[in-house]
Amino acid sequence: MNIILLGPPGAGKGTQARRLVEGRDMIQLSTGDMLREAKSSGTEMGERVAKIMDRGELVTDEIVIGLIEEKLNDDRKGGLIFDGFPRTLAQADALAELLARHGEDLGAVIEMQVDDDALVKRIVARSVCANCGEVYNDITKPVPESGECTQCGATEFTRRGDDNEESLKQRLLEYYKKTSPLIGYYYAKNELDRIDGLADIDEVGEQIDRILDR
Ligand code: AMP
Repeated sequence: MNIILLGPPGAGKGTQARRLVEGRDMIQLSTGDMLREAKSSGTEMGERVAKIMDRGELVTDEIVIGLIEEKLNDDRKGGLIFDGFPRTLAQADALAELLARHGEDLGAVIEMQVDDDALVKRIVARSVCANCGEVYNDITKPVPESGECTQCGATEFTRRGDDNEESLKQRLLEYYKKTSPLIGYYYAKNELDRIDGLADIDEVGEQIDRILDR
């Protein structure tokens, strides 16, 4: 089953996607991760998108649709989790077309609902393992006292360049202007499920499981 995790920055999409990768052998397609990879590998595309990402703006539809298109040729295992894609109506249309071309569709679009004050608090407290990208949060999921990543044992943690209040404001604006219309779009297509993204991590996971097991 292919699903979309939809929600503002900090809603917990990445954390839940990783849980599904482990529990259900699904594949996480995070356009944010793909773009960060391009950014750090210093490719021409990476250089072009780096500044846009640091400002908290969206990169062009053409670039992200191209990234997703490439990944659809790979093995889809237990299904794909679109994490942070689509973020515009044009991307949503392109995804429907790409999936149809592969004889596939969407099993669920899950909106993770959270309130904006909580998002800001979550994001400024966020850190990631420098080695495997596991996400931690000073408040909800602190780095273990041993100082070692629970997934890979590495001991270095970083903060994302765009996890500061200024770019977060821009990311929220982009979300409300360009991404939130997707909620109505998928609702009208009868594909939308909503969950409480503010519950604790396991409870959010259980809400998602109930939708996938339906
Ligand atoms: P994320 O890790 O999903 O929060 O994405 C980080 C940044 O990457 C965003 O603020 C955008 O600049 C860019 N980005 C990620 N996914 C997309 C997308 N689907 N469309 C446009 N820009 C994106």
